[in-house]
Amino acid sequence: MQQVMARIRAFRDERDWMQFHDPKNLAVSIAIEAAELLEHFQWKDKTESERHAADNRQAVAEEIADVAIYLLELADNLGIDLEKAILAKLDRNAEKYPVEKARGVATKYTKL
Ligand SMILES: [Mg+2]
Repeated sequence: MQQVMARIRAFRDERDWMQFHDPKNLAVSIAIEAAELLEHFQWKDKTESERHAADNRQAVAEEIADVAIYLLELADNLGIDLEKAILAKLDRNAEKYPVEKARGVATKYTKL
């Protein structure tokens, strides 16, 4: 992941784009790229969306990468250790969604 981060920083800095990459713009960009990912599945049911993902694997992968690139850069710029943040959030989620209550149900933790 350090290699990926170095590539993201180099791509940005070679173009002098850091001036545009404040936290608000990066958060907006994550949402825009997430919407581009979502667009692949708009109006499709479960079966259609699974088929679309299989048939359009490259295009879907590119949108996933776009989201990840902005997400990684935002965390990097804010000095957030993303691996630590993810592990801490998984611990928190495990507390909110204990297996005995959450297994097989998609109910929000506030309603469990
Ligand atoms: Mg995109």
